[in-house]
Amino acid sequence: MTFQYIFGPVASSRLGRSLGLDLLGSAICTFDCLYCEVGRTEKLTLERKPYVPAADILAELEAWKRANQDLALDYVTLGGSGEPTLNSEMPAIIDGARRILPGVPVAVLTNSALMTDPEVRAELAHADAVLPSLDSLRPEPLATLNRPNPRLFAGGQQAVGELAEALVTFRKEFAGRLFLEIFLARGLNDSDEDLELFRAYVPRLAPDRVDVVTLSRPGAYAEAQPATAETLQRWREALCPLCATPQDAGPRLGTAPATHSATRAADPQAVQDAVHASLKRRPQTATQLSGALDISRKHIVSALETLEKQGHIKRRTEQDGEPFYGVRH
Ligand code: SF4
Repeated sequence: MTFQYIFGPVASSRLGRSLGLDLLGSAICTFDCLYCEVGRTEKLTLERKPYVPAADILAELEAWKRANQDLALDYVTLGGSGEPTLNSEMPAIIDGARRILPGVPVAVLTNSALMTDPEVRAELAHADAVLPSLDSLRPEPLATLNRPNPRLFAGGQQAVGELAEALVTFRKEFAGRLFLEIFLARGLNDSDEDLELFRAYVPRLAPDRVDVVTLSRPGAYAEAQPATAETLQRWREALCPLCATPQDAGPRLGTAPATHSATRAADPQAVQDAVHASLKRRPQTATQLSGALDISRKHIVSALETLEKQGHIKRRTEQDGEPFYGVRH
């Protein structure tokens, strides 16, 4: 069975085995980031509306649950191919996911752009974990890297400051877990000046953890290049000890039992469907797909060969000698 708005589960270093819900259905976002793995933003907007109705997503989730009774999850994660807070039915989706999968905490990924809206903050507070990203505390790097809707940062430094303060306000209002993500691109937002601003900001935000990350897959635009390993290390060493609970790293990979692997591996069509659905979200290598879908690499490689022969996917760049596969558009 294939799903339109459900993907995964994927193995996440922050959330363990996480089932993704796509609240947008296509690349609809407040940003058009250079590094976006989904691809270029098709609709760059600040307008909130039910891009995918809650009823459609929850009906799929009911069907997914019936087909995957034996599969343990660490989180249900709202995200997908754009900015989930743009979906005005997000609270109903959070509450519905909790009802359908009782005991599974709900996380929301957000680029923080709408955090200045008190209504959005109140809606996000329904979640168990919120993972905001904030890539710079200066307007120029944000404009270059995140390419926001022009109305968003029209106020320059003041607007970026308001957004950062809105996140601090949310932290005070929100009883759940807050994981800040900072995405570094070489030469764009990885300067010492950027790091010093975050060094002062992180203790005020008091997130449960900070994840400093960089490109590991091809981004939407060639200008985005990965930060160096030394830079990542320096930023992590500077910022991670400043978290509210630096020892609390969340669930680790593979903590949930992999009870579905054998079933999926025995059905080549099911493996191909899972691989194709996952590649629609982002390009990946066979090794990454194997980890994310918890299916043996041998079966993943076989599915990739079939999908490539059928013309559904194609090879893109390579990493460490392994090709990245993506869907044909
Ligand atoms: S990376 Fe996230 S915030 Fe940036 S364009 Fe893609 S979906 Fe939007």
